[in-house]
Amino acid sequence: MTKDCDFLIYAEFIVTANNNDEQIRNGCIAVKDNTIVYAGKAEKIENIWKAKKDIKLGNAILLPGLFNSHTHVPMTLLRGVADDLPLMDWLVNHIFPVEAQLTTELITLGSMIGCAEMIASGTVGFLDGYMYEDRVGKVAEQAGIKCVLGEGFFEFPSPFFKTPQEAWETIRSQHEMFKESDLVQTSVAPHSVYTTTPEQLEESFELASELGILWQTHCAESESETAMTLEKYKVRPIELLKRHGLLSPRTRLHHCVETTDEEIDILAESGTRISHNPQSNLKLGSGICPLKKHLDAGTGVGIGTDGAASNNDLDMFEELRTAALLQKGYLKDPTAIPASTALSLATSGSAENLGFNDSGKIEAGMKADIIAVDAKRPHMMPIFNPMSHLVYSAKGTDVIFSMCNGKILYEHGQHTTLDMDIISREAIKATKWVEKHLP
Ligand SMILES: [Zn+2]
Repeated sequence: MTKDCDFLIYAEFIVTANNNDEQIRNGCIAVKDNTIVYAGKAEKIENIWKAKKDIKLGNAILLPGLFNSHTHVPMTLLRGVADDLPLMDWLVNHIFPVEAQLTTELITLGSMIGCAEMIASGTVGFLDGYMYEDRVGKVAEQAGIKCVLGEGFFEFPSPFFKTPQEAWETIRSQHEMFKESDLVQTSVAPHSVYTTTPEQLEESFELASELGILWQTHCAESESETAMTLEKYKVRPIELLKRHGLLSPRTRLHHCVETTDEEIDILAESGTRISHNPQSNLKLGSGICPLKKHLDAGTGVGIGTDGAASNNDLDMFEELRTAALLQKGYLKDPTAIPASTALSLATSGSAENLGFNDSGKIEAGMKADIIAVDAKRPHMMPIFNPMSHLVYSAKGTDVIFSMCNGKILYEHGQHTTLDMDIISREAIKATKWVEKHLP
């Protein structure tokens, strides 16, 4: 007797990215509702599962959708407005002044551009931090992509919050707004230790604990951050977080470039997870995160692009390749980060950074977050080991299919949930607005 499902997705290869790094030739994935109910050889599935729709991708590689563990999606609007500058100059003199004037309409547009870019390049979920995050959440729901929102706040009064209490109220109302959502969750997101006070950090952490949500912040990103923290508090950023009881399994720290061996052990013992953002760190000249040391210590790691103004794209294939290559060169050790490790950091590693522990692997019982990469492109020929190609050859533009939570978001080069004609028309108008508001 056959069983009913929604989709049977066929392809020449499946890279499962599961704990055994299994790869399947002539594979098929069965999806029912929002869950993978079978993944294996196509020949074994045909007499068991019957689908409402068969999807035959031919010479392609199916793999888990990628998760971006640190970004600021609306910053697509500021892509390319200020390059070739160090972090503090870039942030304070170029980015903050424009951001302070952004409208909710522009945040919505920036989120649409970002979601469209991510879906088309195989990303099915992201951990965000910005302002007016309710707008980001609404766009994510419309686009069908998973996300964890993070309404950012600072020590100094911003156009968004005059006091931290106002920020707490916004975070509570966003939490209420999305608590029934299948795709969107919320978090608490102080910008960093150098733009908030320890009291604010503590209070915000209490709020995250009370609501049972993640607490995320930028940390140990650059030498100048370490110097500022030492000058103000006489301790380094990670030590500051430790002293105030802010390192925990609820904590997500982005960057962790400037970390001593002792701090790496402290992070691992605390159950804190970190996001590795190699291209943003390189572009801003912030340095190189000792990723291998963090992994060897046992810290949970995801990969993220950071915002599009410091990367300058949201292509997670580029990012995971950079993560692998950078450590090899930095450590003069080609074995430092093998392909399977790099891929797992961008799939299940990043998914866990978002708190989606039921995603990031192709196996029965996991959520149906599935993408496919075209294997017919010249740079993908010939194929001996599909895993190798995904990490060392593939690009985000090779993605031909994206599914999130059992829903198809991208197929045959077309978005199914977003209107690219409208988005690109509006993006042209927004360019003029940004140019007028640049400092
Ligand atoms: Zn960031």
